[in-house]
Amino acid sequence: MDISRTYDVIVVGGGISGTMAAISAAREAAHTLLVERYSALGGMGTLGLVQPITTWGLGKNYVVGGTGRRILEELAQSHPYAATGMTTYGPSCDSEYLKWCLECRAVDAGVDLLYHSWVRDVTTAQDGRITSLVALTKAGDVVLKGKTIIDASGDADVAAFAGVPFDVGSQGITLMFLVAGIDRQRCGKRNEISRVYGERRVGYRGLALFWHARPDAAYFNVTEVENHNALDPVDLTRATVDCRRQAWQILEIMRKHAPGFEEAYIAETAPALGVRETRRIKGLFTLGLDDVKRGGSFPDAIARAGCPVDVHGSADNGKGDYWGLSASYAIPYRSLIAAETPNLIVTGRPISADHAAHSSLRRMAPGFALGEAAGVAAALTGEGDVRELDTGALRETLRQYGAILDPEDEIPSG
Ligand SMILES: Cc1cc2nc3c(=O)[nH]c(=O)nc-3n(C[C@H](O)[C@H](O)[C@H](O)COP(=O)(O)OP(=O)(O)OC[C@H]3O[C@@H](n4cnc5c(N)ncnc54)[C@H](O)[C@@H]3O)c2cc1C
Repeated sequence: MDISRTYDVIVVGGGISGTMAAISAAREAAHTLLVERYSALGGMGTLGLVQPITTWGLGKNYVVGGTGRRILEELAQSHPYAATGMTTYGPSCDSEYLKWCLECRAVDAGVDLLYHSWVRDVTTAQDGRITSLVALTKAGDVVLKGKTIIDASGDADVAAFAGVPFDVGSQGITLMFLVAGIDRQRCGKRNEISRVYGERRVGYRGLALFWHARPDAAYFNVTEVENHNALDPVDLTRATVDCRRQAWQILEIMRKHAPGFEEAYIAETAPALGVRETRRIKGLFTLGLDDVKRGGSFPDAIARAGCPVDVHGSADNGKGDYWGLSASYAIPYRSLIAAETPNLIVTGRPISADHAAHSSLRRMAPGFALGEAAGVAAALTGEGDVRELDTGALRETLRQYGAILDPEDEIPSG
């Protein structure tokens, strides 16, 4: 691997969306580099211990398809405890196995992986083109060059460095943790477990527990702190310490009061803090709550989503907002593109959307679909301008990989 070369595509961030983007760009024969600050792929889905990977369907139909769905279906069948089965909601995957699976997929697709490298700046030309990325590594700064850049950092870091305008949103922050040693035979029903915890709860949140494919383990999405700025290292540290304290308090409540949890222990608190929202770019099209409610499509739709609107805490005095949709909605290519830069595509949770629309599309099923679209778009663009891409050709290629773009593409789950 020669990182001094000029790559066709550089993806910054190896979360679900970035990994899918890199795999799909490489599959279209683009020389692709994926730069990740940590040492594994999957982002929130692995290092953040965020499971399950949702939401693939609405009502009886799958509304998200593509390669991501196939990856998870194959993963669930490949190892006894790899994942719970694929459904329209989505599977809970073993985070270690998912890391390995995504890494194998990326390497097999021909992606060059560069871990332990934190992109901290960019250089730009007069026309706004990103001419290089600067990454902080143990060897000091390294300069990386790519024809098209995909920002999959979750925080729109590259877009911000390149001068793309953005809004910053805030939601509750959570440190996920994995509890093992549970005697499932002796556990009550989910409602009963929630009631036991709810009577003694730490903070305002109830018990959101997601069973692991292993019978003795569950992911806990229960800690939460409000009103922290997740772009500020001091606030991030405070949030991490406070959430970890909550995790141990929650475990003690469960061990003392919930049947079946007497011998339970924390197998792992997430290496990466669970941040739901930071920057959202102001792109060529900002997807709004009205678009989400209306459903339907766009001529340049590159993905659909049907996840509930799910705002945690902070912005709404800790109360948040949660409600389901009656129809799926489309995400246009223009929401991934900024007017200011000819060679930048943003994918994953920071695409151009308002606070409420973001709270729905931030989930990982749309993340897979957006990543696949970003990767194919970058490969098709070549040395051109992402703002001028023929979205008809993009949509045609995505359909070949099973993407669901318009309402009539939805697939009955039966
Ligand atoms: C607590 C919590 C619970 C959630 N629950 C669910 C759920 O039940 N189901 C669901 O589907 N979704 C859920 N979500 C949402 C979902 O997990 C995330 O929104 C989604 O995974 C974001 O994916 P991403 O690829 O955009 O970003 P991320 O997963 O954040 O990936 C970004 C990657 O970029 C890397 N990176 C960041 N900055 C840089 C840089 N400057 N240089 C190099 N690398 C960088 C990071 O290390 C990371 O690997 C939850 C989120 C949270 C926080």
